[in-house]
Amino acid sequence: MSGGDQRLNHRLAAAQPSATYRVMDRVAQRRDQGHRVLSLCAGEPDFDTPQHIRQAAIAAIEAGHTRYTPVAGLRALREAIADKYRVENGLSVSWQDTQVSSGGKQVIFNALAATLNDGDEVIIPAPYWVSYPEMVQLCGGRSRMVTCGADCGFKLTAASLRAAIGPHTRWLILNSPSNPTGAVYSREELHALAEVLLEHPSVLILSDDIYEHLIFDGRPFHTLAQVEPRLAERTLTMNGVSKAYAMTGWRIGFATGPRWLLDAMEKLQGQQTSGACSISQHAAVAALRGPKNFLDESREVFQRRRDLMVAMINDTPGLYCAVPQGAFYAFADCAALLGKYSPGGRALHSDEDVALALLEEANVAVVPGSAFGLAGYIRIAYALNDDALSHACLAIQQFCRAVR
Ligand code: GLU
Repeated sequence: MSGGDQRLNHRLAAAQPSATYRVMDRVAQRRDQGHRVLSLCAGEPDFDTPQHIRQAAIAAIEAGHTRYTPVAGLRALREAIADKYRVENGLSVSWQDTQVSSGGKQVIFNALAATLNDGDEVIIPAPYWVSYPEMVQLCGGRSRMVTCGADCGFKLTAASLRAAIGPHTRWLILNSPSNPTGAVYSREELHALAEVLLEHPSVLILSDDIYEHLIFDGRPFHTLAQVEPRLAERTLTMNGVSKAYAMTGWRIGFATGPRWLLDAMEKLQGQQTSGACSISQHAAVAALRGPKNFLDESREVFQRRRDLMVAMINDTPGLYCAVPQGAFYAFADCAALLGKYSPGGRALHSDEDVALALLEEANVAVVPGSAFGLAGYIRIAYALNDDALSHACLAIQQFCRAVR
């Protein structure tokens, strides 16, 4: 139906739809048309949720745990989350210092919506996850992108933070391991950023730790509030079960942070979605309290795939990628393909052209780097079984070898 007054809210009208979902939708359309697409676009583990977690959800349904929960989450889950932060991250957290939302996205959105006023700036190191700037826009803030190129390992340095931070800064968003580059901040690097942040007491920090358990080569994980406890009172340390426990569809994200901020986020959520799905919350308790061997197993699998992916990408004319230290993304430089023609005769002016040509000519889906704030790259998610992954890499190689 059309007609009527179709004016939208001005903040929504100025925001972009999620770039990752846009590519996923395009893949679905091509599959509906009968194409066999190998998808390297979705940022989600391809494994099934572990059996004991699924069983806990079934048991929750059978036991009748199907009603509203408290807005901030079930106490049993909040206790498990507090224990997780204490044991895994060395943060001194009680269950009242935690909050549960419907996915990590809602945690971030709640935090920004609860605190941003017109003119407030959010520092976002680029490349960044596609939704950060759009959420800032929707919440009335202004994104201040700081380009962190390959020369600095795609990481924010103290010097570039110092140059960007100022009286209008309300938040800094940190994401380690990073989506889309897999970059991981060391303790020393976080420490250097903390030194700058300590000079700016009104700045809040969002530490998006969603890929915490996907770090390779035995590297340790560090989160800002642990590295610099003096920042804990203004850091929201966010996480979830999606990536670690292959639970993307269950929609459980959580956070710990200062009580005033959590209270404001709870107020917002209470007027919006209320508590997260009761069944998913019971499943998340099983995930956090249950055996941890799944984490080691999936890390090993992803590390093996990373090695396969990086070797094949770096054996592809026109593509190059550094070895990612975590998450399940390779951020490949495709600049050498630009200005040329695809095998099907398309002019490749941008990374978007490369991604589109790969999809339509090679049936491989990737996300263009410009969606993440850094042009000349493509993000390749290697959350796909080894066989499909090698096929996808071979198709990319064949495509690139035929670029003229
Ligand atoms: N975070 C994942 C990605 O970047 C999931 C999709 C999304 O929410 O953007 O692909």
